[in-house]
Amino acid sequence: MHLRGTKYLFGVLLLGLLAGCTATTATKQHTSSSSAKVATKSSQTAAKHHQSTDPYRHWHSVKKVTLPILMYHSISSGNQLRVPAKEFKTQMAYLKQHGYRTLTANEAVYALKYHRVPQNKIVWVTLDDSYKDNMTAAWPIIKQNHQHATINFITGFTGKKTHLTLADAKLMKASGAIDFQSHTVRHLDLNDLTYQVQLTELVSSKKWLDHNLHQNTQVICYPAGRANALTIKADKAAHYQYALSTVPGIATSQQDQYNLPRQRVVPGMSLAAFSSLLEFSD
Ligand SMILES: [Zn+2]
Repeated sequence: MHLRGTKYLFGVLLLGLLAGCTATTATKQHTSSSSAKVATKSSQTAAKHHQSTDPYRHWHSVKKVTLPILMYHSISSGNQLRVPAKEFKTQMAYLKQHGYRTLTANEAVYALKYHRVPQNKIVWVTLDDSYKDNMTAAWPIIKQNHQHATINFITGFTGKKTHLTLADAKLMKASGAIDFQSHTVRHLDLNDLTYQVQLTELVSSKKWLDHNLHQNTQVICYPAGRANALTIKADKAAHYQYALSTVPGIATSQQDQYNLPRQRVVPGMSLAAFSSLLEFSD
């Protein structure tokens, strides 16, 4: 697109705003050519206008984004799915000391989608199942370290004592340390369900999160980590951008966006074992 045209349009938009018109009206009045051209010019002008506030302006392009995604569940003790708070604390301190930036869900999506990163060492910390202890044990650690984590929320479990309520989620989200993505409504193994029921699980949980947390939920985390061809069709129909599985491995921007692998953190791991979850070779 021509720079001169954009500048001219920008001027027109400013005049339009001064005259009390909306930008859309000004654009429509000025341009008599195709509507596609108007849309492109308009978005370029908008991009220029918001350049100074673009949170990704310092991110740089890379050929391939490699993003270790850590998978936790309950932060407590008792079984193989529970990581004690003391271990979680040591692991988050390790990430901080070694200069890892813990991405938000939106940042992770942006990185994978646009092949751009804020720095080389990045990691995405995810906690599945929205256990109450994520608030009492994990959140204080994350907050104190000025880090970030994503909780994959089961929207139909908010009435359980052992799980986070909507009020909990709102409080945690407001801190800026935690964001919430979907882990469906009922946490059923999607493989066992018909397409229509899968779709309902995906759509309803997204609607709930979007509406209650005022967001555009972009990620679905599969219960039991599994998905079939129908699930992927439902992911797209429900407007998810990415999906998390429990397949072990390091996610990259070149993989299937609806089956991102994750690295499972298990209780009793040594720091050496933990750090090896973050390692990859290109
Ligand atoms: Zn789960």
